[in-house]
Amino acid sequence: MINVLFAAHPDRWAAYETPLRTAFDKAGLSVDLRQEFAPDQVDYIVYAPNSPLQDFTPYTRTKAVLNLWAGVEKIVGNSTLTQPLARMVDFGLRQGMLEWVTGHTLRYHLEIDYFLAHQSGDWKPLVPPLARDRKVTVLGLGELGTACAQALAGLGFDVTGWSRSAKTIPGIRSLHGAAGLNEALTGAEIVALLLPNTPATENTLNTDTLALLAPGAAVINPGRGPLIDDDALLAALDSGQVGRATLDVFRVEPLPADHPYWAHPKVTVTPHIASETRPETASEVIAENIRRSEAGEELLFLVDRDLGY
Ligand code: NDP
Repeated sequence: MINVLFAAHPDRWAAYETPLRTAFDKAGLSVDLRQEFAPDQVDYIVYAPNSPLQDFTPYTRTKAVLNLWAGVEKIVGNSTLTQPLARMVDFGLRQGMLEWVTGHTLRYHLEIDYFLAHQSGDWKPLVPPLARDRKVTVLGLGELGTACAQALAGLGFDVTGWSRSAKTIPGIRSLHGAAGLNEALTGAEIVALLLPNTPATENTLNTDTLALLAPGAAVINPGRGPLIDDDALLAALDSGQVGRATLDVFRVEPLPADHPYWAHPKVTVTPHIASETRPETASEVIAENIRRSEAGEELLFLVDRDLGY
């Protein structure tokens, strides 16, 4: 029997219990899944950083911690965690994110906001360019960034991507490293951020890098709040250098009711819903990783503690 502790906020149990049990059965695993165990009896921890569990020291027999979220910034630096840490990569997250990013990109590309605001009898044609004449940059070419970049390229957009290491992705102009960032942002009309939150990515969009964008560009951030210098973005919105922003993630969540983003006429706030982990698809990844571990195979989607993602 494999003992699996579900360590997420207790309100997630109802959504996850059945999908996890189903996935374990399908994987042929004999699992005792519970919300509570004596720590020294736990083989695997299914984890979300909103869990009260923060000290992993007593989990002496635990073979791996399996994060339900794609982002690991809230756990990766936990010095009590000595076990391997895997993050969530799955169909649901990828599909949800590419739908959300392409949706907001098309909204800006097609000037949908303009037409929604001009329904008063004023016949004023504003013809958008074809997608191939719209420069879109995706910062981060990992699991989610690549899926979004490829979906946007599939719609015909002129897509540039940027990552830490060099990549070759068909249909995407791929740049990397510090020098590549300036090139990726120069003249970009729509920018989507899909970087992890690490010390190296903080304030990737700041006064200097925002100034590289095409005047009036749109910023779409489903990555993490600290990727953007908020004061710099607000100044760029006020000056018109940035025309619109859709922000899903923030340094403080929930975003405080008095934060200037809420009332800003050029900003759309969404409450961290760009791509939710879906219990059915995520449970299959959790089960597969436990199967692998029990079979002595390498875990999928292991986090690099030094890089922080
Ligand atoms: P990955 O780890 O697969 O990809 C991260 C990408 O960022 C990689 O291309 C990586 O480069 C690049 N990167 C990391 N550090 C740097 C750096 N210093 N300079 C340049 N590029 C860098 O992550 P995912 O695609 O799975 O997820 C991305 C993020 O999306 C998550 O970390 C999370 O914060 C966010 N997210 C948000 C959700 C929401 O609902 N709002 C839902 C899910 C995720 P390289 O390829 O070279 O390693």
